Amino acid sequence: MTLGGGIGFLSRQYGLTCDNLLAVDLVDADGDVLQVRASEQEHPDLFWALRGGGGGNFGVATTFTFRVQPIGDVAICTVTWPWDDVAEVLDTWQRWAPFVDERLCVALAVAHPSAGTISATGLFTGPVTELSPLLEPLLHAGMPGAPVIQSLPFLTAAEQFAGPPVSSVRFKNSSALAYEPLPAGAITTLIDHLRAAPFASNLVGFFPLGGAIAAIDPAATAFPHRRALFDLQYQAYWWDDAAEAASLSWVRDLRAAMAPHTTGAYVNYIDADLPDWGTAYYDGNLRRLVQVKAQYDPESVFDGPQSIPSGSP
Ligand SMILES: Cc1cc2nc3c(=O)[nH]c(=O)nc-3n(C[C@H](O)[C@H](O)[C@H](O)COP(=O)(O)OP(=O)(O)OC[C@H]3O[C@@H](n4cnc5c(N)ncnc54)[C@H](O)[C@@H]3O)c2cc1C
Repeated sequence: MTLGGGIGFLSRQYGLTCDNLLAVDLVDADGDVLQVRASEQEHPDLFWALRGGGGGNFGVATTFTFRVQPIGDVAICTVTWPWDDVAEVLDTWQRWAPFVDERLCVALAVAHPSAGTISATGLFTGPVTELSPLLEPLLHAGMPGAPVIQSLPFLTAAEQFAGPPVSSVRFKNSSALAYEPLPAGAITTLIDHLRAAPFASNLVGFFPLGGAIAAIDPAATAFPHRRALFDLQYQAYWWDDAAEAASLSWVRDLRAAMAPHTTGAYVNYIDADLPDWGTAYYDGNLRRLVQVKAQYDPESVFDGPQSIPSGSP
């Protein structure tokens, strides 16, 4: 997760996981252990590449050292709306969530209409009393229920967001980034695909960026999508082999239908079906990543279907 960037509920405040990385020990293609430190001038290109260039490209990371932040209780909130409010909620959310106080991160999930409702889930690291006023603009959209707000220790909140472990489920996710608010036509496209989804478990997730993520230059680390407003995740889950083909084509078709309104993809939501994956994941940073690969792994010892090419013949 760190090598690909690392987006979470604290990222708007503290940056991506990789932005808090201070050092990595890496076993390289020759089997040597490289000590890659932010504070030292040794291997600066490699340290740049390890922050967003994705796993499985440059070596085996055996130790990560992070800057940590003190955090105690946080407030979490859930807001639900009737499904039919979806267009208004999505439009309000996308113009608000990437720009709100960076201590607040509110993600949105929209499933098939049979779910009945859509929901937003947020985490706020400031005093709980400050949360309701911050949510006001979002609550002007549609007919929301009263927000459910809880104050609890950060780790309990993280466990709640993670949910219970799920086994035996199969899934296909694909991502895209929105650098501008989605126009009305794109929101209609999303809604049409959700209405036509083959299973109730299909959904689209929306996660806000901005804040500390955007405060860093897109070329300063290998993670390029810092100026995106939010990421979209097209998600299908199934338990029965018979559901696989319809699930895969729903994700593929939705991604294609949204492509005119979105940019690229997030390497940690790796997608074997992306044709132009290098540019999608790395955008303008791809060239430098290829150079770093050529320097540290010219023979492509670390090689997979979507590993960065070394540039050598
Ligand atoms: C349910 C679910 C929820 C998720 N939620 C989020 C989220 O909220 N935010 C987010 O940013 N991402 C999220 N992800 C994506 C996640 O960041 C990626 O799946 C990530 O690759 C997981 O890391 P892993 O260690 O399990 O790697 P693996 O899946 O095991 O490996 C991924 C790649 O990294 C390589 N690799 C693994 N370990 C190392 C190592 N030590 N050194 C070098 N290369 C290595 C592998 O060869 C492979 O190429 C989620 C994924 C899932 C399945």
